[in-house]
Amino acid sequence: MKKSEALRQIKKLCGERATEARFECALYSRDLAPVPALLVDPLFKTVPDLVVCPTGAEEVAEILRLAGAAGIPVTPRAGASTVYFDSVPARGGIVIDLNLIKGVLELDEEMMTVTVKAGTTWSELERYLNARGYAPKSVPSSAPASSIAGWLCMMGYGIGSLKYGSLLSQVKWAEVVLPDGEIRQVTPDTDPPLAWFAASEGTLGIITKLNIEIRRQTPMKHFLLHSRALSEIAGVLTAVKDAEITPYNLHFTDEACVRAMSRQGIAPGSVDSGCLLAVDYEGSEAELHRAEEMITALVTGKKAVSLLPGEVAEREWEERYKSLKLKRSGPSELGGEVFLPVSRLENYLSDIKRLAGRYGLEMCSYGHVATPERMIIMTMFFADETRVFEYIMDLSLVKKIQDVGQRHGGYPYGVGLWNTPYLGRIFKVSELEQLRARKKKLDPKGIMNPGKLYKWHPMLNPFNFSLGMNVLAGIRRFVRGGGRG
Ligand SMILES: Cc1cc2nc3c(=O)[nH]c(=O)nc-3n(C[C@H](O)[C@H](O)[C@H](O)COP(=O)(O)OP(=O)(O)OC[C@H]3O[C@@H](n4cnc5c(N)ncnc54)[C@H](O)[C@@H]3O)c2cc1C
Repeated sequence: MKKSEALRQIKKLCGERATEARFECALYSRDLAPVPALLVDPLFKTVPDLVVCPTGAEEVAEILRLAGAAGIPVTPRAGASTVYFDSVPARGGIVIDLNLIKGVLELDEEMMTVTVKAGTTWSELERYLNARGYAPKSVPSSAPASSIAGWLCMMGYGIGSLKYGSLLSQVKWAEVVLPDGEIRQVTPDTDPPLAWFAASEGTLGIITKLNIEIRRQTPMKHFLLHSRALSEIAGVLTAVKDAEITPYNLHFTDEACVRAMSRQGIAPGSVDSGCLLAVDYEGSEAELHRAEEMITALVTGKKAVSLLPGEVAEREWEERYKSLKLKRSGPSELGGEVFLPVSRLENYLSDIKRLAGRYGLEMCSYGHVATPERMIIMTMFFADETRVFEYIMDLSLVKKIQDVGQRHGGYPYGVGLWNTPYLGRIFKVSELEQLRARKKKLDPKGIMNPGKLYKWHPMLNPFNFSLGMNVLAGIRRFVRGGGRG
């Protein structure tokens, strides 16, 4: 089938919910990351030819059948709260905007599950469940924007994961439209299994519905610990993580971040230095009582660690979905997100401090403990996207942050387009081969979100990328000056 004929039939199918208008299509050519056009436009076709907003699985299936027949690339997009161009087309084609596939379908109080449409946001689901005495087991800290399926298609770790595991472990089944247009219900035991779609970043099919486990909404207790000594707070973090009662949320903020918050007047408890550790528990009153005893005992034994007032800790919890609040010092923030072994936190931060000193910058780090072994740590610095050449030089420091992460056993959290040069760090050779075999099996025509996850663009091959970024970082240090280190 010709491309023009396929697009015509899709427009006929969806009517006003499809558009080829250049202005509207251009709105889909970016995500949250402000990457200069100078770097993007020569390599990628990010403006789609058509944007379409289906209302359910049947329409998605028909769109995929027509796109497949004409070999048109398809990029699924929901909240677009990602930063690696995950939901931005690399080769034009069709963007399927999933935001109309929204709403809760069924709450099963006996099975403690909820069936929800893919484009529902986590905050919408949370509000629905809270009103009935329930809650999601875990949520991303981008809950107001992130869709249910978008988080499954990414890494699926966030607030609550330490206690309840990854989102994948909480999903009972999902309805998926495969690239050939077949609608399937996948579970951990089907062929293909549910696990294939977790972290698949929109490259294996489109999820339209999910059935996920929920929990009863129980009381919470919040603690906010402060210390001028990183080693002390890192010790407390490990002790709390490994204790008999697992915290629902464990969030670390380093001293550079505290200073930046203090300058903005938004530091909790008006602290102006040191590091912070937020520890949040949920559970029965008895569990909360035991948790409180444990935290008090931990702090009592340590001179350098203090407990901020309860109302400050509660306010900090209320702010949990505002992790970009520091951006107001921007205009832009640049940073690297590293999936880091918790045991390496101190060494990682000490190398980041050295890196920041070398480039005369302030680098702020904060993150959640996601599993007993790993945390998602974001290290960011302020930049100015309106000064394009300086901004491009600053981009080279994102690689330097990832290099520090790698030295300590970490790797980038998520792939998309911009992290493809790190594929060799993220996956073992055998894992990457397995991923490519899945892709070949489910999407032999390669229409789903092409140009990402499995392979780098020739210009982004790891050798060129590494050389280019190191040279840029060297020029940046020479031109803009650095500091010690
Ligand atoms: C402030 C902030 C906090 C964040 N916190 C977290 C966090 O705690 N944990 C975390 O993991 N990430 C976090 N993120 C990153 C991001 O928000 C999440 O990964 C989010 O879950 C993505 O969902 P989305 O709906 O925005 O997906 P999008 O960005 O629209 O898409 C993400 C990927 O999934 C694909 N996709 C989307 N929907 C579907 C579907 N229905 N079927 C098939 N493919 C689909 C897209 O093609 C794309 O590849 C954060 C981001 C920000 C800005």
